[in-house]
Amino acid sequence: MKKGIDGKTGIMGIIGGNISKTLSPYLHNSLIKHYLLNDCYLPFQITLKQLSLAVEGIRALNIRGVNVTVPYKEKSMEFMDKVDDAAMRIGAINTIVNNHELLYGYNTDYTGFKRSLLEGTETKIQGKNAVVLGAGGAARAILYALCQEGIKEILIFNRTLDKAEIIKREYHSYFPESLIQIFSLKDKCLQDKIAGTDFLINTTPLGSYPDVDLNPLPEDIVINQNLIAYDLIYYPTKTSFLRQAEKVGAIIKNGAEMLVYQAVESFYLWTGIRPEKEIVQKLIHDLANENHF
Ligand code: NAP
Repeated sequence: MKKGIDGKTGIMGIIGGNISKTLSPYLHNSLIKHYLLNDCYLPFQITLKQLSLAVEGIRALNIRGVNVTVPYKEKSMEFMDKVDDAAMRIGAINTIVNNHELLYGYNTDYTGFKRSLLEGTETKIQGKNAVVLGAGGAARAILYALCQEGIKEILIFNRTLDKAEIIKREYHSYFPESLIQIFSLKDKCLQDKIAGTDFLINTTPLGSYPDVDLNPLPEDIVINQNLIAYDLIYYPTKTSFLRQAEKVGAIIKNGAEMLVYQAVESFYLWTGIRPEKEIVQKLIHDLANENHF
């Protein structure tokens, strides 16, 4: 922020059910400070009952926009004037833009994931295979990114098969070129499928703080060293799942870059500023060093 809050300060923020540990205020206020904007990013913790009023409040209070986090990413879509096509297909928004009292919903999780996987790397998604653990909202976003990039096959392993079945059905109609198969997380074929995959992606919260000893994989599973193991969790920075993959020499990646890239995309939607590489890298570096947990 330029000189502190005044009568013209623009407000952005995040709405969610439990945001006491959110890193979004840190990320966005760092960007606001870097670009000397007269804006401010605030946390708004709300209950489900307050959701429609809170969204209406964005209009009433002339808030520039908000991020939406768990558990309102799906429900808040109902209150939008328009939802971006990708977000509509994913079935969730994480960004609301207030454009002269018209509310637009976007999903920047999927672009954030894609950038984190591709930017500055030789990684290719087209023609590859992925094993995805989990079938929740975040899984839908990353599956969308993988299919959009032309992945050949995705094997979803989830505790609740029905949820995976819905994704399979919907995504098949959007991306008929990508084959999606579904399995129970307890299915014995997990070992075989992991042995032949290019990407192994954890989208479950298993292993996140404070239950850091949990792991979505059985203990005796052998991870193929040629794959990329990706955990959407960013705290702890190295989950039990990532440590298991690192031990066999696989490339590992946590969710910090995705978090930063989804934030910079939201920031762009609100301000029209595309943060440069240097500030983006600084934010990634700060999260990697656990400076802000
Ligand atoms: P969600 O919609 O609640 O989905 C959670 C998924 O994990 C579901 O598939 C659920 O299975 C599975 N799961 C939960 N507890 C489980 C358990 N005890 N055993 C087996 N499976 C379990 O949550 P989400 O929004 O997708 O978020 C998932 C994770 O991604 C969280 O850790 C979140 O912090 C992280 N995330 C990171 C970023 C980032 O930028 N890095 C962005 C978004 C999310 P069922 O279908 O059986 O319930």
